[in-house]
Amino acid sequence: MSDIIQLLPDHVANQIAAGEVVQRPASVVKELLENAIDAGATSIKLLLKDAGKTLVQVIDNGKGMSVTDARLSFERHATSKIKDAQDLFNLNTKGFRGEALASIAAIAHVELKTKQENEELGTQIKIEGSKISSQDVVSTAKGTSISVKNLFYNIPARRNFLKSDAIETRHIIDEFQRVALAHPDISFLLHHNGNEIYNLKDSNLRKRVVAVFSPKMNEKLVPINEHTDIISINGFVAKSEYAKKKRGEQFFFVNNRFIKSSYLNHAVISAFDGLLENGSHPSYFLYLTVPPSSIDINIHPTKTEIKFDNEKALYAILRATVKHSLGQYNIAPVLDFNRDSTLDTPYQFTGKSNSSTPKITVDPNFNPFKSEQQTYQPKTTSYQKEESNWEALYTSVETIESPKQEELFQAQQEIETGKTFQIQKKYLLSSIKSGMVLINQSLAHQRVLYEEFLESITVREAMSQQLLFPVHISFSASDIEMISDMKSDLESTGFQFETITEESIVVKGIPTSITESQISLIIEQLLDDMKLEVPETSFSHFDVMAKSFAKSLAIKTGTVLSEKEQETLVNDLFSCKEPSVSPFGKATFKTLTIKEIDTIFNSH
Ligand code: ADP
Ligand code: MG
Repeated sequence: MSDIIQLLPDHVANQIAAGEVVQRPASVVKELLENAIDAGATSIKLLLKDAGKTLVQVIDNGKGMSVTDARLSFERHATSKIKDAQDLFNLNTKGFRGEALASIAAIAHVELKTKQENEELGTQIKIEGSKISSQDVVSTAKGTSISVKNLFYNIPARRNFLKSDAIETRHIIDEFQRVALAHPDISFLLHHNGNEIYNLKDSNLRKRVVAVFSPKMNEKLVPINEHTDIISINGFVAKSEYAKKKRGEQFFFVNNRFIKSSYLNHAVISAFDGLLENGSHPSYFLYLTVPPSSIDINIHPTKTEIKFDNEKALYAILRATVKHSLGQYNIAPVLDFNRDSTLDTPYQFTGKSNSSTPKITVDPNFNPFKSEQQTYQPKTTSYQKEESNWEALYTSVETIESPKQEELFQAQQEIETGKTFQIQKKYLLSSIKSGMVLINQSLAHQRVLYEEFLESITVREAMSQQLLFPVHISFSASDIEMISDMKSDLESTGFQFETITEESIVVKGIPTSITESQISLIIEQLLDDMKLEVPETSFSHFDVMAKSFAKSLAIKTGTVLSEKEQETLVNDLFSCKEPSVSPFGKATFKTLTIKEIDTIFNSH
């Protein structure tokens, strides 16, 4: 038999490697920003077009490259950062694999301009699909500029796999924020399609956190400082009363590198001990410094996990440090004169005719964690249904555990004859002619709300209630991007916005089915869901929205329902188009016929 093994040509090998290093425009952003930092830049600009799909450009004022290095930088395993395996245990740079530029050049049109400090002229190299198409001498500023255009131009499958611009932008902003937070002493600029998203001056840690998130962050931050032999901890946690119902801003940096660690996260959360209402998430920005030799970074290039030598000790120190700082703050809250009383409520009321003397008003009963007294609101019915294909959205719900067709039919026919009981604040039990039906109250309500929202979004003119005082809510830049993108969709559900600025939104109208205090929860939940679901068409966009709203607003297990509420919920459920499953495919009810009940007893 003849030999069949052959070495892959370089450009093919590079493309394969690129699959690991570059998943999306945000991966390019990360690699280029890290290279700029490794090059000692003090000022870094990131320019994007179309969520990075058309252009990612990073311009730095770092040390630049010689002509030879510029050419070599695109070779695989070409790096200036380590020389031998031993160096891996003492890493002070972000990169070390020498793979990023080679990978990126294999799957995009790349243009590099670079010049070292003492040189008159610099080098320009254009490369695409791993092939250098031109190399010139150019006059350019000190430092390096790399433009990456038309990512995945030669791998259509990968390009098609990219998500909507909103999602890809969000991933980029996540990466950008991580790098910007890790390096407060470097100034950063971010432009997207010509609009300035961030302009961060070099500053200190506190100012950087505030600049990245919002001016209001300043008074929320409790400083953390601890130095021991095995670790130094710096940074901030946000006071517990500002914990978010969803998605705290949570950042760990180890030796200035962003990492994820559910173990260390647990240490921080447990330090809040009793200060956090169930299900709320504190924000934190924690910078850990450990000897480079005590961690293992030699892991997959895109992974953010890390291995520590003495995890248990770190856990204990971190927990104790955070606890101590929170304790210090909590002992003397009344002495905190800088406190802005408008921050005591989750929203700031704007437009209130506030007369002369500002006075401190504190609502002693206000508790941001107290969940709304939940009652069951009957479905707002009585509208003329227009011809539309929105019903198509309901058809493809497939589930194994949903009740059978005849079960549904039976329940629908017979439900009126029953009287309803609530069991364990979770299920409704109703007797029907042929036996009984058990309904999961929360899942049933999700179904009712889902259909209601979907219908109001797609068929009816959305009803909106005007707020007496517009509600002001702060968001991070990336969230604002997403909200702006969804603006018109949100409007078709009944939301009305007075303004959407770079860091906040002002809501002046809301869907009739929600209350004012639910606004931020609903929007935060929606942002989460949108990030996960990634709707491709506007139709499925609405579907994600309706699901998200239904999830946020449905009455929960543990809510006591009055007899009237139980009855209304049961009736609403059975007037749904698809009553048997929740919007997420779980069975909403189960019937037990007399025969089935009989067999339970006879079989014993
Ligand atoms: P790594 O960062 O792992 O070394 P890269 O492929 O990202 O690998 O970069 C290869 C080499 O190119 C780097 O080691 C560095 O010497 C050089 N380089 C890349 N980007 C820059 C930059 N912005 N400024 C100066 N040198 C750079
Ligand atoms: Mg690199």
